[in-house]
Amino acid sequence: MSDIFESLESEVRSYCRGWNTVFDRASGSFLYSEDGHEYLDFFSGAGALNYGHNHPALLRPLLEYLLSGAVVHSLDMKTKAKRRFLETFHELILKPRDLNYKVMFPGPTGTNSVEAALKLARKATGRFHVLGFTNAFHGMTLGSLAVTGNSMKRQGAGIPLTHASSIPYDGFLAGETPDFLWLRSALADSGSGLEKPAAVIVETVQGEGGLRAARASWLRELSEICREHDILLIVDDVQAGCGRTGTFFSFENTGIVPDIVCLSKSISGFGLPLALTLFKPELDLWKPGEHNGTFRGNNPAFVTGAAALEHFWQDRKFEQEIAAVTAQLHEGLRLIANATEGATVRGRGLLAGIHYPDPTAAGKIAAESFSRGLLVETSGPEGEVLKTMPALTISTTELRHGLEILAEAAEAITGQKIVLRTVA
Ligand code: PMP
Repeated sequence: MSDIFESLESEVRSYCRGWNTVFDRASGSFLYSEDGHEYLDFFSGAGALNYGHNHPALLRPLLEYLLSGAVVHSLDMKTKAKRRFLETFHELILKPRDLNYKVMFPGPTGTNSVEAALKLARKATGRFHVLGFTNAFHGMTLGSLAVTGNSMKRQGAGIPLTHASSIPYDGFLAGETPDFLWLRSALADSGSGLEKPAAVIVETVQGEGGLRAARASWLRELSEICREHDILLIVDDVQAGCGRTGTFFSFENTGIVPDIVCLSKSISGFGLPLALTLFKPELDLWKPGEHNGTFRGNNPAFVTGAAALEHFWQDRKFEQEIAAVTAQLHEGLRLIANATEGATVRGRGLLAGIHYPDPTAAGKIAAESFSRGLLVETSGPEGEVLKTMPALTISTTELRHGLEILAEAAEAITGQKIVLRTVA
């Protein structure tokens, strides 16, 4: 059956192909289609809905703001909503973590934040080369695509992607080569042919590239190398940030302090577009208006963003709740993975999933899950990893229900019996 989505919308559409239904309403961890089906959401808007759909603590102030006649669009002008967001972000996020960053609003998407980070790193160092990692994902515009690994996505650029190269992420060489042997050697040898980079850009967990999670020791060594060689360290926390891995920033317990941090997706908390690029004050070398854009001051997103920080990040309680849900998710994933030889659990916090040795398995399980009322996607260059990303606010009962659907779907595809008995 052809519909307006198929007849009019470009072939580039993607999620709507696997999840071929028309969504209508959403609440918490559930989406509802117009034909009355309920879907439990283990996708969370690719990380843009960490607090679930339409959370009342965010919806209420948003509606009040809109009904009050307050300013909606204002580029980067001063507004009350922006002041409140900046004050709240400073008080609840930066100050308690002893992080001294300036805040830039680069435009509302993750790739906007990454482009600003790359541009600033190049401006600050006077160098143009940037190192990214195997299987990295940083966005679809030319600068961020140049540090993205996926060959299909890279091909879409239509021009050579330059001034960047890819080095092995943690685990890429299966531990057979000492970490950073190549990077240290190449930086030390003037004959290596490696252009000294302005920056290294890294995800602490590769959300799109297969849920590989870097070890803290690996990140620390990377950070040390950057410091030794005067290279800027950019952490792209667009997907792993805002609590997804258990702490507000994904690097919090690793002992590194990046020079530049990219945030987007869940920073508005409500699924409204908003992005930040954070950097150390000495890097604030922008001239006024040197990097601008029409949609940098999204006031409705400032309102929900501030409300989300106030509601969830006043103290450490939310982190404890995330830890409890994480334990339940990982235990469930472990039991599901155990049923298939060679399958392993990957990821960190609520950015976790199962790597299957058969690269077609995860896609089939995701499709089967959809037909059973669960939204779950795949990750990795071949879609070989089943990727679960429930809302951080999901209840124990909802999570168990989702894991049961996943287990049934995995059983149907792999033919292996799965018992989830021990999951709370
Ligand atoms: N960086 C990371 C780590 C991401 O996961 C994504 C989106 N999946 C982006 C950047 C790009 O964000 P956006 O799609 O909003 O441009």
